[in-house]
Amino acid sequence: MLRVSNYINGELTAPAAGRYLENVDPSTGRVYSQVPDSDGDDVEQAVAAAERAFAQWSTTPAAERSRIMLQIADLIEQRLEEFARAECVDNGKPLSLARCLDIPRAVQNFRFFATAILHTQSQTHVTDGAALNYTLRGPRGIVGLISPWNLPLYLLSWKVAPALATGNTIVAKPSEVTPMTAYLLSQVCRQAGLPAGVLNIVHGPGASAGAAITAHRKITTISFTGGTVTGREIAKAAAPLFKKVSLEMGGKNPTIVFADAAMDQAIEQSLRAAFANQGQVCLCGSRIFVEQAAYDAFLEPFVAAAKALKVGDPLEAETDQGALVSKAQLEKVCHYVNLAREEGGEILCGGAPPPPISNRCKGGFFYQPTVVTGLGADCRVNQEEIFGPVATIMPFRSEDEVLAYANGTPYGLSASLFTQDLGRAHRLAQRIEAGTVWINCWLLRDLRVPFGGMKQSGLGREGGEEALRFFTEPKNVCLAVGECETVSKQGRAASEPRQ
Ligand code: NAD
Repeated sequence: MLRVSNYINGELTAPAAGRYLENVDPSTGRVYSQVPDSDGDDVEQAVAAAERAFAQWSTTPAAERSRIMLQIADLIEQRLEEFARAECVDNGKPLSLARCLDIPRAVQNFRFFATAILHTQSQTHVTDGAALNYTLRGPRGIVGLISPWNLPLYLLSWKVAPALATGNTIVAKPSEVTPMTAYLLSQVCRQAGLPAGVLNIVHGPGASAGAAITAHRKITTISFTGGTVTGREIAKAAAPLFKKVSLEMGGKNPTIVFADAAMDQAIEQSLRAAFANQGQVCLCGSRIFVEQAAYDAFLEPFVAAAKALKVGDPLEAETDQGALVSKAQLEKVCHYVNLAREEGGEILCGGAPPPPISNRCKGGFFYQPTVVTGLGADCRVNQEEIFGPVATIMPFRSEDEVLAYANGTPYGLSASLFTQDLGRAHRLAQRIEAGTVWINCWLLRDLRVPFGGMKQSGLGREGGEEALRFFTEPKNVCLAVGECETVSKQGRAASEPRQ
């Protein structure tokens, strides 16, 4: 059976303790590979390798770092089909989605940051005639990157690429639930000539391998994407060590449809927002609010479209909805749909796993796209992140009412608005508590924009300039340029208390 290896000091290595976890194909429910059950010893080795590699990588010219990263991007692209299949089998997502979204985006992440570092600027501040200040930005050292299972390579590379580009060395831990494309990435990095120890990938559970990364004194910086509960644990572990931390966490995102919206577009985009990747995208719009006047016009075609989504074998081309990532995730979704019933919700479609979809997939973790109405905005189903193919629909009557609903959860990751009234769209975009607001679209991404969440959805931002700043330490260098007299006057003036 295929065994995933750690990637430490440029070598594909077995876990120090020799223990492995079973890795399940969610479309069949069967174990198909093994993933290292790494612990603190493996992290220790990875940190030692990253420490050795730092002096050289941090002083490697940007053009050379860029060249190696572009080579990594090219090699992933050349093996796109292999990567996409690996993501599909590991995660349960449709192969078509992995082919057109996950893997191309990983390629883009490397290209984006590989070229960004060739075009950076630094700041200067001229202090009257006395001094010239300039800002140096250097790498932070060894950084710890921890990523989730829903978009495995997409989100891992979204951290690895800016951290590498800015000259840091890395100890990364992908989700133990979906390790396969990170393993393929380690092969590609070797082939691309990434120097040993620059990127180290330690596979294993959060409680052992992940916690060892966040607790390690030599890891200066933690970039985490995952659930809010885990984010809180990481923040607690990192705080006494004064680590720089970026947390991308859960969401309970609203989709708001006004009666004047282009209804076909609103339905199509809301459907995508609710059910893409089986509803397992942090940005999924799982709470849909529709203005009363358009409620019926929205509801009927939306439910019909949800029913028409084909739940099927992720490897088949016509499949819209693959498997959920794990048995635990399937059980969580079942639990929340039962809770929706208990809370008085009406299930308009779905509400159960589908009948066995094929002989191959009879043990898989499938669930039908589910639409629930009749729930209040404050009930648990509308407050807690389900992370599955479950959307609720609620009517509203005014802008203020829907704004209160939209902002009425502890989360603040993203929101989508559908309206033809630009004034209203901008007004609401300003008042919605979310890191991203889409108007008449969903998940339209530009890698240059700040990405992240407010409230319990996140701390810090990724993307473009934000990521380059996060992974670097600014240093002010102040050079006296004036005559001695001017300089000492300036110095005295600055240090004298102002009256
Ligand atoms: P998770 O929090 O369970 O795990 C995420 C990662 O953290 C995994 O690699 C895991 O092994 C590790 N981990 C777990 N416990 C740890 C600990 N104590 N110390 C260090 N590391 C630990 O999340 P998940 O179930 O893999 O992913 C789903 C969640 O991720 C959802 O809540 C989703 O909203 C969120 N997510 C957020 C974004 C975003 O950009 N905001 C993107 C994708 C997913």
